[in-house]
Amino acid sequence: MLKAVGHLDADCFYVSAERVRDDFLRGKPVGVLGNQGACVIAKSYEMKAAGVGTGMPIWDALVRCPEGIYVKRDFRWYEVLSRQMLEVVQQWSPRVEYYSIDEFFFAAEPGPDGSFQRLAERIRGAILDRVGVPVTVGIARTRTLAKLISDMAKPFGALAILDRRAEEELLAERPVTEITGIAGRRAARLSPWGILTCLDLAQADRRLVRSLLTATGEALWWELNGEDVRPIQSRRPSHKALSRGGSFGEATHRPTVLYAWLVRNLERLIEELEYHAVAAGRLTVQVIYKDGRSGVGQATLPVPADRFDVLLDVVRPCLRRAWIPRALASHMHLIADNLTARRDTPADLFESPARRARAEAVAQLKREVNARHGRFVLRSAATLPLASIYRDTANEYDICDIRGKICF
Ligand SMILES: [Mg+2]
Repeated sequence: MLKAVGHLDADCFYVSAERVRDDFLRGKPVGVLGNQGACVIAKSYEMKAAGVGTGMPIWDALVRCPEGIYVKRDFRWYEVLSRQMLEVVQQWSPRVEYYSIDEFFFAAEPGPDGSFQRLAERIRGAILDRVGVPVTVGIARTRTLAKLISDMAKPFGALAILDRRAEEELLAERPVTEITGIAGRRAARLSPWGILTCLDLAQADRRLVRSLLTATGEALWWELNGEDVRPIQSRRPSHKALSRGGSFGEATHRPTVLYAWLVRNLERLIEELEYHAVAAGRLTVQVIYKDGRSGVGQATLPVPADRFDVLLDVVRPCLRRAWIPRALASHMHLIADNLTARRDTPADLFESPARRARAEAVAQLKREVNARHGRFVLRSAATLPLASIYRDTANEYDICDIRGKICF
């Protein structure tokens, strides 16, 4: 059977997700705000037509599109729909790569009629029916080609291109910068050689491409020529480091507030460690101050851990080292590295089994309560100075709590 790769990308996903639960937003210019409500992080096609760009501050957007409707982001809802879309694609494909919250690659296998074009249309239709989100689906011989096709077919496109002549027509029309991974600097290296379109790149000498763009570029060359060299990763590669943190919104010099942020970031980091089933071997706390200074504290754990009580004992002195008294702090990052798979983590021989059992029971209870009643419903009392952050449901999920990249 002929094999192919599919690429599925939701059309203006955050806006489409808002429209799923609010019909009023359909057909109207809609902008989704992030970053404490200051910037447009996603916009509908109607708002784009009015000249509003992604990342534009709200005050500029209001000038260009005063009739627009601006809503605050709700990543928790977007993640719910993302999971539903993934489930639909999994019904059509044995292997699906969750590439980002609204983008998947999948192994495409045509139905009994042998048509990839119909497969693309069916998946698009199934997602609209069952999730309510419009998506674009591209199918090709490789993932790089599939993504180029779906980018071209947006919005609400479904297109399968598998023969070389049609591929070449497509490649000839697209500048090389449309290939993910070839931005300004790489494109500048290609242009002196007359490589401007995707077809130029596909027809260039492979060794030249390798010398200009390293092995990454060579992989793209193969992909553009129909050799599928980047297989679908239905399991994510393990991470080298995991981190949580970001801006406080409002700068602070109060130690209790800084400590509250430390605990909040630690609770978020532990969720991530648990999700990836890894334990941290080293932790770093970085605090950035408004005057441009920054402080860092780092500690290595004797035994890798993912438990709140153990990690808190480690990060507390790190914060003390990163703290500059009376300076106004604006950001904090908490980074875990030297990660090991949890199943390979040895027990700490110096800890009493009773203490360990108790801490694990507490952690388990916390997970269960939060899974049932909402994230952070049960959390450390040290986070009390941040009550307003927890009251605002829009802060339940921050941008970096969404696994995978941000989508547009
Ligand atoms: Mg998208």
